[in-house]
Amino acid sequence: MDAQATKAAQAGQSPTANTPNDPACAVTVHNDGGVAPLDRVRLSDLPLRQALRGRTPYGAPQLDVSVRLNTNENTHPVPPGVAEAIAQAVGDIATGLNRYPDREFTALREALADYLGHGLTAEAVWAANGSNEVLQQLLQAFGGPGRRLLAFQPSYSMYPLLAEGTHTQFVDAGRADDFTLSAEHVAESITRHAPHVVVLASPNNPTGTALELDVVDAAYRAGERLAVAGGPAPMIVVDEAYAEFARPGTPSALTLLPGRPRLVVTRTMSKAFALAGARLGYLAADPAVADALRLVRLPYHLSAMTQATALAALRQADALLQTVDQIMAQRDRIVVEAARLGLAPAASDSNFVFIGGFEDASAVFDALLSRGVLVRDVGIPGHLRVTAGTEQEVDAFLEALTQVLAP
Ligand SMILES: *Cc1c(COP(=O)(O)O)cnc(C)c1O
Repeated sequence: MDAQATKAAQAGQSPTANTPNDPACAVTVHNDGGVAPLDRVRLSDLPLRQALRGRTPYGAPQLDVSVRLNTNENTHPVPPGVAEAIAQAVGDIATGLNRYPDREFTALREALADYLGHGLTAEAVWAANGSNEVLQQLLQAFGGPGRRLLAFQPSYSMYPLLAEGTHTQFVDAGRADDFTLSAEHVAESITRHAPHVVVLASPNNPTGTALELDVVDAAYRAGERLAVAGGPAPMIVVDEAYAEFARPGTPSALTLLPGRPRLVVTRTMSKAFALAGARLGYLAADPAVADALRLVRLPYHLSAMTQATALAALRQADALLQTVDQIMAQRDRIVVEAARLGLAPAASDSNFVFIGGFEDASAVFDALLSRGVLVRDVGIPGHLRVTAGTEQEVDAFLEALTQVLAP
């Protein structure tokens, strides 16, 4: 891969993507106003919405290298027994694919509620194609024109894009220099910005650390005060995509749900469950929240195959989650070894580590890639993020990192 393609891949772009600076993008207009028949129609020739012009699509590079530790998937393959159960379940419904699926995915919601525990019932659970779609539906229902989403960056890079796509104004209140988030800062920001939706990622991506529940509670109470003062009554969304990897004793915001009808906890099967390819995310909240999302979801948004796959996987949850302990051990190993190499890894409650202390993170990214190890450059100077993979993958990462940093 040439240097330019690597840089483009790092920025999440396709090397051939149109950019506003690309002279080949210029539209050639005939005297009659028609578009000249160039070799092919370009994006800039189309009447794209103004807000989308010149933008690049979200997407971490999907490069064909041997060690891919850049998107926080569970890198362990689905165990054969679980794969067979999924194949069987999908096979069993195949003759019924002539019909639309259960719009209410009732069996799946029951299974998700059972998995979550905390006395939750199916009515309190909602699901969609990845927690990204759940977040999008939340913004469609509670955000929108004239409304604001408040987030605390650096955090998940999809939040501003989901806001944009739902015409919701994105407000970033930032974090402390060490990327922590205090209850005071969250509460003050809610008072100041009067948002309609607040998103708190716990554990946060890319930094990896979970929030104390007093931060979530402070956000909720600040929202209540805002509403009493005549402002919006904000929905408080806690994105717990990595909850299963939290260090022992880290409580989930699920424990705060009773009595807080505007609190939403989102989860996903893309990370601990090793099922990123199936696309299944979900939430737990007051049943009224699901009623709100029914107003914006597409008809039959969860395919019968998705429902069957997720249900079969949940029945085998113990087998699927068996790798979580190994991944946590590899994560802790990365933290220890990175510190030994003189770097500054953040405490992690997730399946990845945010490592600071690089003199030139972008150069290290390139050097690791040239050794067949793909990590994530999230664009924060001096930092890289690496997913805790299998023991062999982490061996390869640490070996490459040691070589790259050797004087
Ligand atoms: C990976 C991730 C998700 C999961 O997205 P899916 O659409 O469920 O695959 C959600 N939130 C954060 C912070 C993530 O890092």
